[in-house]
Amino acid sequence: MKNRAIKRHMVLLVLTVLFALFICGAASAADSSTTNGSGSNLTNSTSASSHHVVDPIIGVKVGYEYSSDSINPEITVKDSKGAKINATKTYDMAFKGYKLSFDYAGAVSGTKFNVSVSAPGYTTQSQMIAVFFNSANATDTNLYGSATFNMKATAAYKLGREATKKADQLLNFSKADKVLAITTAGVPKYKGVTSEDCIEGILNGSGGKITYGKGNLLMLRQTATDPVDFAFIVKKGTSLQAVVFLNGSLTPAYVGTISENMTKKQWNAYFKNVSGEDAFAFASLANAWSDGVSNDVLREAAFHGHVCEGTLGGYSIVQALLKYYPPIKATSGGVGSPGDITSYKIIGVPGGSDDDAVIYFLDATPGKSGYVGFDTTATGATTNMIGFIRWTDTTYKVVTNADGTKSYVVDVPGTGSLIIMTYDNEANKKAFQAQYKITSWGSLEELKYNTWLIQKIKNDPGSLVKFNMELTGLTEEQYYYIVGTATNVTFPTAVNATNKGQTRFAAQNAHGLDLNYIKSLNLAKATRATASTSNGSLTYDQIKNIGTNASNIAKSIFKKELGIDLEKDDRDLVVLTSAGYVYLNGQSTEAAWDGIYDVLGSRLSRSTLLPIHMAVWKPLWFTFVLRGADGKTMSTVYLRYDPSTGKFFIGNNSEGKQVNDIGPAALNNATKVSDLSTNFIPDGNWFNIQSIANAWRNDPAFDQLLTFLFHDHACPGVQPGFFITEYIQKNYPLSGNQSYFWMASSIYCKDDSLVYLLGVSPGMGTYMDQRLSGEETTSEYLPGGTEEGMIVVWDPDTKTGKVAIVSFKWPTYNLDGLTTSEAQREAMISAFISMYKGESSPYVNEPLSLVTSHETYITAQEFARLQAGGTNNESALAYVKGLPVRNLSDILNQGNSNNGSQNGQNGQNGNHNGNSTSNSQQTSSNSNGQVTGSVGDSGPTVSAATQTEVTNQAGETPSAQQGNTYEVSKAAPQSEESEMNYLLIAVGAILCGGLLVVGFFKGSILGFLRK
Ligand SMILES: [Zn+2]
Ligand SMILES: [Zn+2]
Repeated sequence: MKNRAIKRHMVLLVLTVLFALFICGAASAADSSTTNGSGSNLTNSTSASSHHVVDPIIGVKVGYEYSSDSINPEITVKDSKGAKINATKTYDMAFKGYKLSFDYAGAVSGTKFNVSVSAPGYTTQSQMIAVFFNSANATDTNLYGSATFNMKATAAYKLGREATKKADQLLNFSKADKVLAITTAGVPKYKGVTSEDCIEGILNGSGGKITYGKGNLLMLRQTATDPVDFAFIVKKGTSLQAVVFLNGSLTPAYVGTISENMTKKQWNAYFKNVSGEDAFAFASLANAWSDGVSNDVLREAAFHGHVCEGTLGGYSIVQALLKYYPPIKATSGGVGSPGDITSYKIIGVPGGSDDDAVIYFLDATPGKSGYVGFDTTATGATTNMIGFIRWTDTTYKVVTNADGTKSYVVDVPGTGSLIIMTYDNEANKKAFQAQYKITSWGSLEELKYNTWLIQKIKNDPGSLVKFNMELTGLTEEQYYYIVGTATNVTFPTAVNATNKGQTRFAAQNAHGLDLNYIKSLNLAKATRATASTSNGSLTYDQIKNIGTNASNIAKSIFKKELGIDLEKDDRDLVVLTSAGYVYLNGQSTEAAWDGIYDVLGSRLSRSTLLPIHMAVWKPLWFTFVLRGADGKTMSTVYLRYDPSTGKFFIGNNSEGKQVNDIGPAALNNATKVSDLSTNFIPDGNWFNIQSIANAWRNDPAFDQLLTFLFHDHACPGVQPGFFITEYIQKNYPLSGNQSYFWMASSIYCKDDSLVYLLGVSPGMGTYMDQRLSGEETTSEYLPGGTEEGMIVVWDPDTKTGKVAIVSFKWPTYNLDGLTTSEAQREAMISAFISMYKGESSPYVNEPLSLVTSHETYITAQEFARLQAGGTNNESALAYVKGLPVRNLSDILNQGNSNNGSQNGQNGQNGNHNGNSTSNSQQTSSNSNGQVTGSVGDSGPTVSAATQTEVTNQAGETPSAQQGNTYEVSKAAPQSEESEMNYLLIAVGAILCGGLLVVGFFKGSILGFLRK
């Protein structure tokens, strides 16, 4: 039953979302002026033709603030009433500008047209331009006008350009063996807007030395409220030099070595100047890049936050899994759109970093119900352990009964295999420490350890991972016990059978990686696949060529079927691709992006090249979509690369057409949808492609677009995450060392946007999910709403958390005239894109609502209980509802009176405070086998390399490793560090991206957000 407890606990904050309150991100044309063009410049270079129809010709010269930029600008013409005019744009060499010719009925000498020019990285400008007859030639009946546009760079573009320029001056890119740029730009807001233009600045400013496809541009995943930071690194021989810019400043925060071979003194200088989570992020990524780690692993690490043992371990786990237990079939794991399917259900124990790697490479995201995980260490699981279920759904058959009625029977019951692996951190760390006689442990040692692991992956990948269990014959009951199901599992309803819709299995809460339970099942041993794997040896140029060829083929098809010449840098053209995620014979494929850019100027930072998150084994495909002048027609070409022939499959519809509209009109036609999804885009990716292409059609915000890409499709379900994130950042702002933690109770698509934008993740131990029954998550305080999960603002300094339950209620829609589910979904997605931009939508009747309730403060022990999924009798959600309402002083007083008992109960009490006594206590109590929070991954503790750098990594990892670190410290009594071994100081130490981290830069925005 739903908890109807008296509402005495609750603090209720209702936000009826008033869209007007959202910051309007729409950039309106900034510069507007009127120019009376004389036309004389242009007529000189335009051959005068004498036809009688009035035919205005407007000459437009475009100059860029950065004169080395040669971008083909987007130029639009509107009449004085604002109606868009279809104009032909050509470049006139003699005029050194663009010529726009169009027909306009009723144009006379002096008629004005509104011309606007836009280009990526620049502020859109518009001018009113008047047209006149050619005074020098009375027989010429054309009207002429002209204007010059001096385009001004956006603030973000300038920042990226100038940072790159300065870095080049300091590091001399052209003398380097190779160059790397790492930036937080993208999602973080810079001067009020998302900061992707910074990336444009880096790419254009580096003159081709830094490109997406070379893998030397890494976008470190951050939240909207994080600062824009850059690190540029050059490798020359064995030296690795870096320039770091922080918080949008062009004064370098650090210039010097970033190599793992630096001295402790050098590390201290680096750490002092860079500090925060970025210090280890930049250093670990730079050294891994220098060591030759493949680009896809670096990108995964940038998603996770840094390179660490768990990143590399997770990668190795994926390699072993795919070799011995390759994917069979994608299935859904809960409610969702057709895109919400995965081939593996990952059963994780959050906090080991490996979770993020497997989610990334297998595209088994939490929002697609591909990931289940909360703290199940009490059952014997560890954070470096991870389970995979390959599940085959139940099939049904209809039988006719003796009385002539029909009923469903189970034809083949669902079944699955369950594989559990660990990356062997203890053994590896010991071997490394023995080999290098490492006696203390700090960030520099972590960097060296990473390098050692990277070499191991190259030479002996199997040695990093251990298969713990390889089981088969998992039954439906066991499957649902582990992954949970929010609703009853029923017989289908497609046929009018007597038992249609009847319950087969009741709704069931998830139990995650409950090792005791799994052991008790006594399942049979699974059989490994024996297929051999081959590794390709394609060069960057060869893979890049695949992108070049695909683009050229698409160009020729558009020309052949529509007579359209695809323009370079066209902002109405988008390329969607699986390149960058999928493999060709084990090789990553991002180089194809550069080939596409060369031909079409399409790039992620321009929102015109959209790599869609796909599992590594999926095909390499390219989709080219041209948005029509009506803003609705989506002319599309689909290509799939065939690695065996080097040729392309070209999609065509049942009539043989290679260019097909996939816009809203096509989606609202069931026959067309069926034709397109079976013939034109036939690789099971139709929904992924059409949903993101149509979302892009409505110009979504960059952060929203990145989330669609991560989720691998756009859908209504992914949308609440944007609003929940914005709500949390506004109403629960972080200060000091605080950071966010989310425990999901109702899990669907929106969990992916929440993970991506709130900066939490399973690998960081800051996102966990425990699927509960729909009955339990029915909101008590928001009629018609759902209790989605719990937000915790954890404060490691006071070891307290502020928790609240977040409920969400869907808007209601007006979908008149939309008859197919695809068209309805498309309209709902467009409604959410409008809402997120702060605009109204014709498809929305009632707006969405967000509510937080049960707000209270919790102790470390209570936090650990929450992370463990509650108690034996109640879920985490029910547990939080049962807590008394307290304010911070209540809990601090309580904490004092209980001093000691709460030590070590959770994973957040890192070692930032330099209090050796309490840290030591945490270490020992963490080792006693009680429930540990496990938050913060088992990666590095970033610290200054002082002689007292020995850190205990309290709570980051299971007790065994705590003991291990502790032993290592004790095992070196003669070392010069020994005196300080127990003085566990870590200046600004951070759990590996964990809860101590995110708050570092948040303080500055606190005042703003509280207003
Ligand atoms: Zn979805
Ligand atoms: Zn990590």
